[in-house]
Amino acid sequence: MENCVFCKIMAGEIPSTKVYEDEEIVIFKDIEPKAKIHLLCVPRDHFALLSEADDARAALLGRTLKKIGALAPSLGLSDGYRLVVNQGENAGQTVHHLHIHILGGQSLPWE
Ligand code: AMP
Ligand code: ZN
Repeated sequence: MENCVFCKIMAGEIPSTKVYEDEEIVIFKDIEPKAKIHLLCVPRDHFALLSEADDARAALLGRTLKKIGALAPSLGLSDGYRLVVNQGENAGQTVHHLHIHILGGQSLPWE
């Protein structure tokens, strides 16, 4: 997708520190980390919002969550982690390509 920073990262047009990739997702380090470990898990399929998910995308997202669970120990997240999906303006979504923030490597404040 034109002018999408995550599509450009996946196309190799913008550098990133990738920690995992396969045919349908890429996981790389967030450039402005909000925790000791802050990764972004990005489906290769370009869509911005969960409301755009059809059955195929819903299945993709299910597989993606399962993969994050399986990969967590190898990503340094054995002690737990938090997933965040910002959606739209009120959540401050800045990149309009759906992504899952993976936060961990420390105790995470909740309140
Ligand atoms: P969101 O606010 O949920 O849309 O999150 C977008 C995230 O993408 C932010 O945490 C940014 O720090 C991150 N980000 C933006 N550009 C890059 C980049 N070139 N490489 C890595 N992370 C990025
Ligand atoms: Zn994109």
